[in-house]
Amino acid sequence: MFEYAPAPESVRPQIKEHYGLFVDGEFADAADGSVFKSVDPSTEEVLFTVAEAGEADVANAVAAARRAHETVWGPMSGAERGKYLFRIARLLQEKAREFAVAESLDNGKPIKETRDFDVPTAAQHFFYHAGWADKLEYAGLGPDPKSLGVVGQVIPWNFPLLMLAWKIAPALACGNTVVLKPAETTPLTALLFAELCQEADLPAGVVNILPGAGATGAALVDAAVDKIAFTGSTAVGRAIAKAVAGSKKKVTLELGGKAANIVFDDAAIDQAVEGIVNGIFFNQGHVCCAGSRLLVQESVADDVLERLKARVSTLRVGDPLDKNTDIGAINSAEQLERITALTETGGAEGAEVWQPACDLPERGFWFRPTVFTGVQQSMRIAREEIFGPVLSVLTFRTPDEAIAKANNTPYGLSAGVWTEKGSKILWAAERLRAGVVWANTFNQFDAASPFGGLKESGYGREGGRQGLEAYLDV
Ligand code: NAD
Repeated sequence: MFEYAPAPESVRPQIKEHYGLFVDGEFADAADGSVFKSVDPSTEEVLFTVAEAGEADVANAVAAARRAHETVWGPMSGAERGKYLFRIARLLQEKAREFAVAESLDNGKPIKETRDFDVPTAAQHFFYHAGWADKLEYAGLGPDPKSLGVVGQVIPWNFPLLMLAWKIAPALACGNTVVLKPAETTPLTALLFAELCQEADLPAGVVNILPGAGATGAALVDAAVDKIAFTGSTAVGRAIAKAVAGSKKKVTLELGGKAANIVFDDAAIDQAVEGIVNGIFFNQGHVCCAGSRLLVQESVADDVLERLKARVSTLRVGDPLDKNTDIGAINSAEQLERITALTETGGAEGAEVWQPACDLPERGFWFRPTVFTGVQQSMRIAREEIFGPVLSVLTFRTPDEAIAKANNTPYGLSAGVWTEKGSKILWAAERLRAGVVWANTFNQFDAASPFGGLKESGYGREGGRQGLEAYLDV
């Protein structure tokens, strides 16, 4: 393995000591004065303090969004709305480096991912939806589709800016106004995005950002909004579905996953190993569609595992702002505890654990990449979403067995298939109960491609023509 000298990112974004809520185009403190801290998970240092929205702030933000919808954004032509979205997309590109560094600081993910994936993909989402804004009547959703009104949006901490883009871009393109709550551990890029909206001269009230925790999210779900768009855990998704049942609110839920990544014996093994690594170690495994269950055909299992371990041993874990880093920090102490606890059940239930030798920084929240072999379907590490850099390896003998094992989960978000035979890919894709099936690749996203789950992974689609439907009265 090559020795690497540190290559730290030199740009530091201008982070304020304190941020307010972003309501009606202005930053302001919470009505009751509540604040909380955001921490750099790689050092445990406090980055800034931020106002925490309560019920009164939620009501204010929803009222501002309602006014903006009725007076400006709703009546505006699609072509004019599109111009604002193009402007936002271009500003995101201009400020890409600042956003990438800020995201790495607040979230702990490696700079090479925020720089090459999170920020460009977020900008792509705004470009893509800017293009739809004046073409909605051609989307196959009726001749004159109307906006819904005010949308409440709640997002998780694993892709803070990207999830914001997935939510805000289609909502605005379709003529809705939004109140978005970022996750409590990662509000920074949403606040920088609020500043960007000011710079883009977006009319006041079209985008409102309310930092806070679960109580803020619950208040937003209960508020006078026309739709709730949620990305997060299945447990909270279930609570939201209950809370809105019987109301006229439209709902989309993007929830958890426990994806199978299936390697058949005729696959190109080195490529498959890259795909396995990308599938589970990208973003520290904090990925809803992570390929957290590797299903490998028995005849090639030893070979795949040997090459996988050799590859994982080369991954560099450490400073998120170092451009050589492959695996950054775990996002919070709480998430680290969850990963540690679930990983311990693997050993206790009889699976064999393997971790590469690597030094971890002394401060911050860190977890070594982990591979479990000898995993049985009944074990918790095979059934529950760990949401960390932990891979559970199972084997199969026949293609039918692979499909049965892959589908043996309450989730249905994504799956991967590795084989050189096109016919086998189509055969497997037809049978896999998952919203997305990748073939000879993994974790590929495009604004034009709808994303979403089956079963307990939620309902509704984000992205593509299909994603527009969730934001239109059709
Ligand atoms: P979480 O459900 O705990 O939190 C998600 C968001 O919901 C946060 O902003 C949180 O503050 C808020 N929230 C918490 N309680 C709430 C309540 N009662 N009412 C309303 N909002 C509430 O999830 P998390 O731990 O932040 O994120 C990880 C989860 O998100 C994983 O399960 C992952 O699979 C899922 N996820 C899914 C997708 C997808 O597209 N399907 C994408 C990313 C993450």
